[in-house]
Amino acid sequence: MRIETLAVHAGHGVDPASGAVSAPIQLSTTFERDVEGTYSRGFMYTRNDNPNRRALEKGVSALEGGEVATAFASGTAAAGAIFQALAPGDHVLAHVDAYYGTTRLLREIFLRWGLNADFIDMSDLAAVRKALRPKTKLAWMETPSNPLLKIVDLAGIAEVVHETGALCVCDNTWAPIVQRPFDLGADLILHSTTKYFGGHCDVLGGIVVTKKVGEFFQRIRSIQYEGGAVPSPFDCWLVLRGMRTLPWRMRAHSQNAAKVAEFLAGHGNVERVHYPGLASHPGHEIAKKQMSMFGGMLSFEVKGGRDAAMKVTGRAKIFIRATSLGGVESLIEHRASIEGPGTKSPEGLLRLSIGLENADDLIEDLNQALG
Ligand code: PLP
Repeated sequence: MRIETLAVHAGHGVDPASGAVSAPIQLSTTFERDVEGTYSRGFMYTRNDNPNRRALEKGVSALEGGEVATAFASGTAAAGAIFQALAPGDHVLAHVDAYYGTTRLLREIFLRWGLNADFIDMSDLAAVRKALRPKTKLAWMETPSNPLLKIVDLAGIAEVVHETGALCVCDNTWAPIVQRPFDLGADLILHSTTKYFGGHCDVLGGIVVTKKVGEFFQRIRSIQYEGGAVPSPFDCWLVLRGMRTLPWRMRAHSQNAAKVAEFLAGHGNVERVHYPGLASHPGHEIAKKQMSMFGGMLSFEVKGGRDAAMKVTGRAKIFIRATSLGGVESLIEHRASIEGPGTKSPEGLLRLSIGLENADDLIEDLNQALG
């Protein structure tokens, strides 16, 4: 099946009990045991497994071309489960430009827990090779990165990292559908389903998909139900519902973002635009190789720094001043002030999550806001 068909049908099916075309939400936390003491219907207790969660995991793994998936209560809980599946003393190689929440998770929690980590610029393959240690068990890749939209060569990194036997994780939150990490050598894919999968800024979730089930993934599965950071049945239902339109939304997000990026690149008050679809972007050639479209996220730097950037956000009428991304509504955000101390975001940088409005309206809004 092609991706649009998979998105509509994977994980879905007519409910055998009622004939409902849209799956019922199974709120029950506990399930009936057989007279013999077994659970022939496959469910015992909802932290361990639940029909809506199972459907979501089936759907997302089919969509990404993996074997199995485990869903979590947030993208961060999913990332945490991956790190917890390592052992104290293991070494993680992470992209210096990874989502700051993931970097903080490693620095604030997992270094204290005994993991070692190095944060390097993964766009430099020689640096990746040099940073690998005998105890390196995991490389954490994220592309395009947040908020600078840096591109790393997924296939190139996977080749270098696999020489040592370590696993490659790709945080594919920003580029579902348009980037296929398993085809490029990733072993695990992470999504914050809060973003494009949910698609409407109304549900929090995360998921880990594995290319092949092995011992490492079994540990993640065990952390899911022993640790208990699971999504509710309704959250699973919402994310799986969102997935049905994901390929079409990603196409529209990407087309709109490309138009907005072109406009910004030509505006006199804009210093720099970060969008991998622009030929001027330093990662454009690699992005062209590994992405079918360039996604709905971009950032740009306003001439005049922080104050000028803040004025732009204040004048926006259609863009909503809010964090997060991947919804139908366009969002504008001053990243440096949201990330706080230690941020790598330039003070004049604004990040845009381009929604599904008409691109001309978005451009007119930015034009008036830029003054
Ligand atoms: N990964 C990326 C790339 C993100 O942008 C985010 C959140 O913004 C996360 C992970 C964390 O996801 P969540 O907020 O669902 O915990």
